[in-house]
Amino acid sequence: MWLALLSNDTQSASHKSVSRYSYGCLSVLFMFLNINLGAEPVYPDSQELWVQQVEDRIKKINSGEFDQFEIHGFKRFSPADKDKLKQWVKVGVNATRDTLGVYPSRLIFHLVPKKSNQPVPWAYTRRDNPQRIYLHVDSRFQLEKFINDWTIYHEISHLAIPYLGGNYAWLAEGFASFMQYQVMENAGVLNGTIDENYQKKIAPHLKWFKSDLPPASIARRLMSQKQYPSAYWGSAYFFVVANNILTSEHQTSLTKLIRQYQLCCNAPHGDVAQLMSDLDILLGEPVFSKLLARFETQAARTIYPSEF
Ligand SMILES: [Zn+2]
Repeated sequence: MWLALLSNDTQSASHKSVSRYSYGCLSVLFMFLNINLGAEPVYPDSQELWVQQVEDRIKKINSGEFDQFEIHGFKRFSPADKDKLKQWVKVGVNATRDTLGVYPSRLIFHLVPKKSNQPVPWAYTRRDNPQRIYLHVDSRFQLEKFINDWTIYHEISHLAIPYLGGNYAWLAEGFASFMQYQVMENAGVLNGTIDENYQKKIAPHLKWFKSDLPPASIARRLMSQKQYPSAYWGSAYFFVVANNILTSEHQTSLTKLIRQYQLCCNAPHGDVAQLMSDLDILLGEPVFSKLLARFETQAARTIYPSEF
């Protein structure tokens, strides 16, 4: 049934039909999973084929034109700045989709003028319905400065997984922080290697994790104390570990898994257990649930290296 559904899709399918398609796959996936839940974590060959079909579809979509996003707030900018900002958002959307796949809903941006010493001094996502990305921008900066700035890639990355609630804000920020560099590297706009970038960002915050407390408690405390760089980059280490497990033991990567996740399972709201479970099911093994359990219960000093 799902094969027929896939073969009916055409390359020129609109984003809307992609959404219908993914919901179709969602129900098929869950039918499929109901059969397998509780069984051995070995999935039939057809799942491999399904994953390949989804990947092929993403490539086709990514090679086409992207216009499935909208931008608000242009009337507060000059026509020249409007063109520049539009180009920038388009680059950001294309780069993020190329790395993290097609989003199940339209991306909505709000631009707000803000004089600063950097192109994007402030940004955030609102996870209500519809979800929105707010970008405060100083339009005096050149297009290249905007494209080289990490903020837009970080904000769009947030929407690749559901809103996880305040108790897991640390994990959501760790995810977006990890992903911003994956997107930038893939788009060829990252300065230095990706490992150098993670090292530079994570190493200064390891001191907080030389502790008998679990990393989740430490990260929550850092968030509540507004120590955001420490909370974000300390939490990004969760995804560094996850990605290492995926590449060394599962012949995949976190970005590849998220591209599959977006097509089957991403929704604006969810909970952390559901997210971990969906990723585990796509992978065929409980890697994420186990890793989160370690971050919730095990002493941080046994998980984090003393140097990175
Ligand atoms: Zn963030």
